[in-house]
Amino acid sequence: MYDVIIIGGGVAGLSASLFTAKAGLKTLVLDKGQSQIKRVSSVQNIPGFPEGISGVDWIANTIKQAEKFNVKINEETVVEAIKDENGLFEIKTEQENYLAKYLIIASNANEALISGFGLSLSPNSLIPNGKGKAVPMQNWNGETEVENLYLAGLITELPSQVSVVLGHGAAVGITVASKEKEQPFMWHDL
Ligand SMILES: Cc1cc2nc3c(=O)[nH]c(=O)nc-3n(C[C@H](O)[C@H](O)[C@H](O)COP(=O)(O)OP(=O)(O)OC[C@H]3O[C@@H](n4cnc5c(N)ncnc54)[C@H](O)[C@@H]3O)c2cc1C
Repeated sequence: MYDVIIIGGGVAGLSASLFTAKAGLKTLVLDKGQSQIKRVSSVQNIPGFPEGISGVDWIANTIKQAEKFNVKINEETVVEAIKDENGLFEIKTEQENYLAKYLIIASNANEALISGFGLSLSPNSLIPNGKGKAVPMQNWNGETEVENLYLAGLITELPSQVSVVLGHGAAVGITVASKEKEQPFMWHDL
């Protein structure tokens, strides 16, 4: 049993996981496939990397950082996500079944994962080529009408830029941590 399961280990999912894990919530990321940033040989617009960084390296570094805070990351494809009669999320992958109190879907556009929760994709007007699809943004913290179900990153209607997406993942992670802790969660390193 996990406190938080995150479907999708791209920019949004990994960013959210840092915050939920730092808050002490047992966090599992399920990711299979290729996150968008991995296709970029040198991302030049992430603050703090004046020479740019390859997407593959950025993901590898962030996985290392997440694991330092005890995030478990499993390379598995989620085939079904439902909410059971006890209000817990049952997540089925090709290998395993998992349970969690909170579910964050950070899978980018994936109708199959959200349709069972009464959500659907629409064209993302903020992505200029017209190909992007997303769930229209209800609010910045990723909350949905399903209790304890959150959406993070490009599956919501965001501009397609890494800095925006990782900020959104952080906001969603902080929201989940704050709800579970019943007080605003803040991460202040000294
Ligand atoms: C070619 C290209 C170049 C880009 N260049 C830039 C750039 O220079 N600067 C910039 O700021 N942005 C750039 N972007 C945009 C940026 O990469 C994205 O905005 C950002 O990475 C989206 O992150 P995400 O976490 O929301 O989604 P994603 O990166 O799509 O991550 C979602 C993850 O969920 C996984 N997943 C989906 N379904 C399942 C499932 N059922 N089970 C398990 N895992 C699942 C996917 O495989 C993926 O790993 C570029 C995008 C592309 C495609």
